[in-house]
Amino acid sequence: MIRIEDIVAKVQKNHPQADSDLLRRAYLFSAREHKGQKRASGESYLVHPLEVANILADMRLDEVAVATGLLHDVVEDTLVELGTIREYFGDEITHLVDGLTKIAQISNVSREEQQAENVRKMVLAMVDDVRVVLVKLADRLHNMRTLHYLPAEKRKRIAQETMDIFAPIAHRLGMGKLRSELEDLAFQHLHPDEYRELAAQLEKRRPENEKFLTAVTAQIEEKMSEAGVPARVEGRVKRLYSIWKKLRRQKVELDQVYDLVAARVITPNEIRHCYGALGVIHHNWKPVPGRIKDWIATPRDNLYQSLHTSVIGSKGQPFEIQIRTEEMHRIAEEGVAAHWKYKEGKRGAHDDDNTLQALRSLVEWTQDVKDSRDFLDTLKLDLYPKDVYAFTPMGKVIQLPRGATPIDFGYMIHSEVGNTCTGARINGRIVPLRTEIQNGDVVEILTNPNTHPSRDWLNFIVTSRARNRVRHWVAEQQRAESMEIGRKLFEKEASRFQLSPKKLLGNNDANMKRIASEYGYGRVDDLLAAIGYGKLIPRNVIAKYLGPEQFEQLDQQKESRLRSGVRAVKRLIHFGDDSIVVRGVDDLMVARARCCNPLHGEEIIGYITRGKGVAVHSTRCKNVQQLMINRERIVDVEWAGRGDQTAYAVKLRAVTENRTGMIAGITGAISDMKTGIRDARASVAPDERGHIEVTVEVFDVKHLDKVINSIKGVPGVLDVERLQGAV
Ligand code: MN
Repeated sequence: MIRIEDIVAKVQKNHPQADSDLLRRAYLFSAREHKGQKRASGESYLVHPLEVANILADMRLDEVAVATGLLHDVVEDTLVELGTIREYFGDEITHLVDGLTKIAQISNVSREEQQAENVRKMVLAMVDDVRVVLVKLADRLHNMRTLHYLPAEKRKRIAQETMDIFAPIAHRLGMGKLRSELEDLAFQHLHPDEYRELAAQLEKRRPENEKFLTAVTAQIEEKMSEAGVPARVEGRVKRLYSIWKKLRRQKVELDQVYDLVAARVITPNEIRHCYGALGVIHHNWKPVPGRIKDWIATPRDNLYQSLHTSVIGSKGQPFEIQIRTEEMHRIAEEGVAAHWKYKEGKRGAHDDDNTLQALRSLVEWTQDVKDSRDFLDTLKLDLYPKDVYAFTPMGKVIQLPRGATPIDFGYMIHSEVGNTCTGARINGRIVPLRTEIQNGDVVEILTNPNTHPSRDWLNFIVTSRARNRVRHWVAEQQRAESMEIGRKLFEKEASRFQLSPKKLLGNNDANMKRIASEYGYGRVDDLLAAIGYGKLIPRNVIAKYLGPEQFEQLDQQKESRLRSGVRAVKRLIHFGDDSIVVRGVDDLMVARARCCNPLHGEEIIGYITRGKGVAVHSTRCKNVQQLMINRERIVDVEWAGRGDQTAYAVKLRAVTENRTGMIAGITGAISDMKTGIRDARASVAPDERGHIEVTVEVFDVKHLDKVINSIKGVPGVLDVERLQGAV
């Protein structure tokens, strides 16, 4: 079993300033908490955090990361609370351990297959410190190395997850060596028979391969030194998993694969030597056309740099050669971890800048790092700053933009789910619909087939999909309402001209269809919607329908009928509790205008709004004058029934003599009328008179009159007026 002092020594070697005491304390804490626990191998559990810490020390990470490795399982697997970690080890380590616990929770959610890409992004989006991912990868590496102790079922699941999630993350972070080991281990457990067979076949060819590699590396070294290109040469047999992938991809047998071996030329840190080496290689071996790749001039996304070429060997077999500098080699092997040594700030400013540049592109940074010496910033990871990832209750990952709400989530699942969304649960708790979804949230959308999207949603939803759907629904809704309003207006006008609306608006009136198309509408319904929107005047449509002569004649008859006092249409409206519906002859959507808030019994007037039905104003409303400009949009309205069941708030102002007791007198008079008071306040006007404003709750205009009269009866009250506006 590895000893903590070996790990301390490794960390000290790479980071002479490191706090060794922290490592020892983390070790003792972990040992105490894991005491009595065993691994599947039968060993003491403590072996695992020690091995993980050792892997991290080998990556040359700092003592904080290594200590996190020692502590990574205590919150997950023992009764230790995060608060305890904070108490003993401070915020930084707590933050890292917390990040690891969150990643562990993702693994616990059941997942659909085929969404590995999203899960990978989710893992990366959930952490803001790259060390969390590195500890997780070290943890996974040790678990994979000891996977054979687990039952077959579990082994497969973990190996699959490693292949789908963690090996690609290692690749994304440029950690070639770790990725290779993870892949080979996962391959071994996912396809044990094929693995064994392939390993055996390769073993059989080993002497032959080794002989070839020894000869060819010696030859390359010789040619390099003849040409004066400084370089060391490595030979290697390709990895099992990459060979297996190649066999599968090309559908060939191992015997048909020649380039099982490859050579690597590593030059000191000057790029010109790489191109020099390539020249030497091509001068001495025949290159395979189309196989030359320059990843130095255009590095891969994960910062990998190398020259690749394939050449024909002395016996006619092709083999691959990679050429890179020592620095490129280290980055290819260690990726993001290769940058760690710079953290100590030993290098010159120039190197720092390069590293920062490299890291920045590695993590796709969007914002500039202002102070290049602030190296802690380079640990910050925000790979997907614009996205969040959340789960459905079934474990499907949904990718959303930051700031997305449950409604956006609903529309991502299905437009019907969005359209009928009534509420949401996040992580099991009911939340408001405007709640922002966080990474890793499990989001459940509550639906009701009888509900509809709301215009208000447009104030907080963020995805264009949701916006489009809601806008579409609102537009449809407005159009349907406008069509209804247009139909009513047109019917009313038609009846005035003694025409049958039924006949005109029936299915087969060719004349109406013609008129619609003359106005530029495909259907009669569109024509009606245009009337409802106020774009067309029904009278003009009727004129077109009848032709000038007949129109003139009928119009005069109509005028005389009106003069004789016959009301063409009576509109009966009814105010419900909070909505108002028209019933009887018409059933237009009606709403009480907020500006004047008319009371039952008051003189009122209706105004056709664009897409929101008929707004009912009091004739005393100061807006009515303005509305009268569009006379054709004014409709007659009347109060229905006896009075409202609902009381409405009305604000009154009493002008009084300036003496005490006025408020008490007035509120007393109102209470005597069994009328509710919401608010009362007094002030003194410049003319020394008292102003008392009371908000009363009244059912209709008669009720209001009684209240006003009784206030007027209070001694000292000079006048009472009703104030405009809703309360
Ligand atoms: Mn672990």
